Amino acid sequence: MYETTYHRAASVSDAVAKLGSAEDGKLLAGGQTLLPTMKQRLAAPSDVIDVTRIDDMKGITETGSGVRIGAATTHAEVATSDIVKRLLPGLATLAGHIGDPHVRHRGTIGGSVANNDPAADYPSAVLALGATVHTDKREIPASEFFTGMFETALGEDELITAITFPVADACAYAKYPNPASRYAMAGVFVAKTADGIRVAVTGAGQDGVFRHEGLEAVLSGSFSADAVAGVAIDDGNLLSDIHGSAAYRANLITVMAKRAVAACG
Ligand SMILES: Cc1cc2nc3c(=O)[nH]c(=O)nc-3n(C[C@H](O)[C@H](O)[C@H](O)COP(=O)(O)OP(=O)(O)OC[C@H]3O[C@@H](n4cnc5c(N)ncnc54)[C@H](O)[C@@H]3O)c2cc1C
Repeated sequence: MYETTYHRAASVSDAVAKLGSAEDGKLLAGGQTLLPTMKQRLAAPSDVIDVTRIDDMKGITETGSGVRIGAATTHAEVATSDIVKRLLPGLATLAGHIGDPHVRHRGTIGGSVANNDPAADYPSAVLALGATVHTDKREIPASEFFTGMFETALGEDELITAITFPVADACAYAKYPNPASRYAMAGVFVAKTADGIRVAVTGAGQDGVFRHEGLEAVLSGSFSADAVAGVAIDDGNLLSDIHGSAAYRANLITVMAKRAVAACG
């Protein structure tokens, strides 16, 4: 057994102060990743600082140019939000297919993005939509945020407060879930934005989420599922594990990209 001290933060500054004064503190959001990690003794923080009661970090609001989602907003809240369903339907679909009801009602967008699991769903939407990650210290563009498997640009003790998404002309997400965990074996988020077409792939990359420039180029010329079929997916840098080979995942990327393009309408 080991001891850990639970703290409930009242504000962003309170969370940062508590984290800074802890010997080996960890932020706690939905606990869907952190608590299993602690149970397995892969982490043994001296203190956990709960950020789920901080009003500034909760809720979904329409901004002039897009949508702001507080970091402590649950997947279920994103999936059922009228604002998200109207402005970013692909994001609502994505959130509604994460894990199971328990995971969706506890897990948060901030915890998922901070963790950057290579099979997590949200990183693909954040990257494809060109979102911005807001922290207690700065704003980080999606293109600079995900730096590798379970790695992000977050500094030590840096807290995600919100994520802002620009509105897209169209967006959709399709994933092939692992039948046991529901994590993505391959998930493809397609977005038509003011900056052009972006395609982000999760679940399949050895370095985590990535944009697929070949698919983006072809879809910029002809936005159709048929166009996707003409793109060869290189499996050289794809994951290969007991759930599926790299070649299998390459095929899944093609199939999921076709489905996402078709769902864009
Ligand atoms: C059975 C199961 C199935 C799942 N299936 C899926 C799935 O299909 N797709 C998917 O995408 N995910 C899936 N997940 C993961 C789930 O989405 C979790 O929500 C996610 O792993 C972490 O979010 P959390 O809020 O629970 O974070 P926590 O577990 O509380 O924290 C995770 C990490 O992020 C840090 N952190 C938390 N909040 C912040 C913040 N605001 N700023 C900085 N750091 C922070 C914590 O310190 C910790 O290191 C599944 C989980 C389980 C248990």
